[in-house]
Amino acid sequence: MGYRTLTRRRFLYWLTAASAGLGLSYGEDEKGIDLIEDIEWKPHLEVRKASKRTGIKGSEKDGIEDMKTLSLIADEEAGWIYLKDANVWIKTGVNASFKKSLAKDYGLTDTKGGFGLDHDMNYIDAVLLKNRGVLKSITVWHMHPKKTEDICVSHETGSDSNKSTKAESNSIRFKKSLVCAMPSQLDIAQGIRTTAWASTPPYDCPDYSEAVCSPYGAFRLSLTAAGKSEFCSLNPKKIGAHTLNMWKSVEGLLRLPDSLEAEDLDSTKITEYRLKTFREIASKLSTEYAKAEFIE
Ligand SMILES: [Zn+2]
Repeated sequence: MGYRTLTRRRFLYWLTAASAGLGLSYGEDEKGIDLIEDIEWKPHLEVRKASKRTGIKGSEKDGIEDMKTLSLIADEEAGWIYLKDANVWIKTGVNASFKKSLAKDYGLTDTKGGFGLDHDMNYIDAVLLKNRGVLKSITVWHMHPKKTEDICVSHETGSDSNKSTKAESNSIRFKKSLVCAMPSQLDIAQGIRTTAWASTPPYDCPDYSEAVCSPYGAFRLSLTAAGKSEFCSLNPKKIGAHTLNMWKSVEGLLRLPDSLEAEDLDSTKITEYRLKTFREIASKLSTEYAKAEFIE
């Protein structure tokens, strides 16, 4: 990169970086965070594949709002990292077929309509290492499309000719809307694993979390200090066992109360009940090792 191609800001960064003995990297300078690659900045998060890595400059709230909108229309999952220190979102995840073998490694049994996501862990690894000591916070996000919910529901209810009563159908649809908005068992297990991985040497990221967004809001999963130490060996069976315990603790919440069965699924009553349930789910998913929060 020639001197004349540098903007004033980048030139100043070059001076700072050079004087600090760090050298100039190809990535944009975002408040001292090296993004490794040249990012194509977009006004909003996008699901579609691009030739260059894309991102947005904006707050966590901006990105969550974008994902909520995308989740209503997207055909597939997509993922991003949010770097709070630079206030940017970078696309890292693309749709992938569900990895049953991976679930098996953790001793998990859930399946979710063939949807899944692969994050570009080589890129995340590089961002963490290059910004070690500077990058204080990273959240690895992915979005669950509402379409997943419909596929799950149709699997569960069967063909149209066997359609159940409105009440039964509502209760199934409600349960699926909760399950498809929540982190899956594999999401939880992978979240625990990667958080433990990123929190220990050589990465030592102080605040790493994984999160999933649906049209209804978002769940964020992080590890307590005890959890980071408990899972630092990254043992899949140990992580899987804890994941199943977390999952079991919320199973009783995944139902529509009889009193609401006749309500329209989009009614205020059910919408409020769903949000209340999500908050309870987050609270129950939290253990001495893992912390879950629901973001409306
Ligand atoms: Zn997921």
